[in-house]
Amino acid sequence: MGIIQDKLRELLVAQLEKEGIGDKRVLEAIGKIRRENFVIDEMKKYAYDNIALPLEGNQTISQPFTVAFMTQLLDVRKDDKVLEVGTGSGYQSAVIKELGADVYTVERIEQLYKKAKQTLTSIGYEIHFRCGDGTLGWKEFAPFDRIIVTAGAPQVPRELLLQLKPGGKLVIPVGSKSAQELFLVERSLQDSPDDEPLYSRAKYFDFKFVPLIGEEGWKEIN
Ligand code: SAM
Repeated sequence: MGIIQDKLRELLVAQLEKEGIGDKRVLEAIGKIRRENFVIDEMKKYAYDNIALPLEGNQTISQPFTVAFMTQLLDVRKDDKVLEVGTGSGYQSAVIKELGADVYTVERIEQLYKKAKQTLTSIGYEIHFRCGDGTLGWKEFAPFDRIIVTAGAPQVPRELLLQLKPGGKLVIPVGSKSAQELFLVERSLQDSPDDEPLYSRAKYFDFKFVPLIGEEGWKEIN
């Protein structure tokens, strides 16, 4: 079983490389992490398909290409302090942790928060977990070098911009509830002459995420 999954993981990495993921560190991380540990029992046979899979609470573990693309864009350096909004299964947190970062992750659904904490801790990842509304960031540990949001937002939450260090990067899908563009927001090293932070934005092609629900996201939906 283990040998087959190791082979499937190798094939997935080769596919991601073919689809344009060029960051060797990201590919190595994906090549190392057992995605089957992060998916629900009924979906384990699809763990290495390049598709999003259902999680508890009507949520999803993102498609491996999306995880790789976002992580590559985030450009994580060793020892960066990284905030992730939307822990979900914990898979994306593991990828960022493998890059040597100090990871802070927030999930709003208690069942997912508990399960991801249990999964990641049992594999030996030391990560900081919180259950709550990640649209407000995590003030106690701000500012962050990098922030990644793994759910679709109606706009970039102001609190997340405020919790980004000078020179920091934020990756977030923004758009409607049904389709989003991926934004890379970078904060300049220097503020404006009147001490206001300056940000630049780049947009990447279309993605589809579950909604970011919270004070600075979408309102609760059922
Ligand atoms: N990164 C996840 C993974 O690797 O499995 C994928 C997560 S899923 C696409 C998005 C997650 O964001 C869901 O688990 C959802 O409950 C969570 N979420 C939505 N709004 C949130 C908020 N305001 N704060 C924290 N988590 C939120």
